[in-house]
Amino acid sequence: MISYHPDSRFLTDFASANLPMAQAMCVSAHLEFCGKCRAHVQQLKEVGGHLLSQIPPVAVEAGSFEQLMSKISEPQSAPVASSLEARTIAPKSAKETYLPRSVRRLSNGSLQNLGWAQFGKALRIAPLPIAGETLETSIYDIKAGGQMPEHEHRGEEITVLLKGSFSDADGTYSRGDFVVRNAGETHQPTATQDTDCICLVCLERPVRPRGWLYRLLEPYMQYRLHSLKRAATAS
Ligand SMILES: [Zn+2]
Repeated sequence: MISYHPDSRFLTDFASANLPMAQAMCVSAHLEFCGKCRAHVQQLKEVGGHLLSQIPPVAVEAGSFEQLMSKISEPQSAPVASSLEARTIAPKSAKETYLPRSVRRLSNGSLQNLGWAQFGKALRIAPLPIAGETLETSIYDIKAGGQMPEHEHRGEEITVLLKGSFSDADGTYSRGDFVVRNAGETHQPTATQDTDCICLVCLERPVRPRGWLYRLLEPYMQYRLHSLKRAATAS
């Protein structure tokens, strides 16, 4: 059962296509699991459409309509939410049917196509290739029963649970949950014993590991992730 949902700020900005691509992807992933938030977003879109229809028409310069139509036909001008929902790529592996459409699209149908960096025995991370996005967006794969290093957040972090579950001192999170952590918060997620935990993670700034060993390794970890992201975005 889903216990953690995006707050109204996320849903309103998603409905009006005002979220950065990476955060829109996290909300879109949650919506695939959560009928309640899907209905809420639909209502927000209807209210937005109604408000727009109430705005009186204004006189426009000659040629403005043609300019607007040419802008709409440019692929990059498509609203974020719509562009994420537009194309569906079927999962190549039957085991990956749990993946949201946006993740399937960016991984070309399978997580196996992503570039993975292994950190210790329990954790591997694959950056997602979102061109021009400054927020770090990745897939985390934590082995069943595995524990991530304790870390402190230096900015907002959104985690959407795609498969399995993990727990930390504040609670247990399951498939579909949308978990937000803020700057200054510290935690140490541990995957439950029964299955590997796959998460979509969007970070405003890289996290700061607490243990001395991970602090020593941090520059290497950041270098490795940036190299993988550069390679994925270029291909
Ligand atoms: Zn929800």
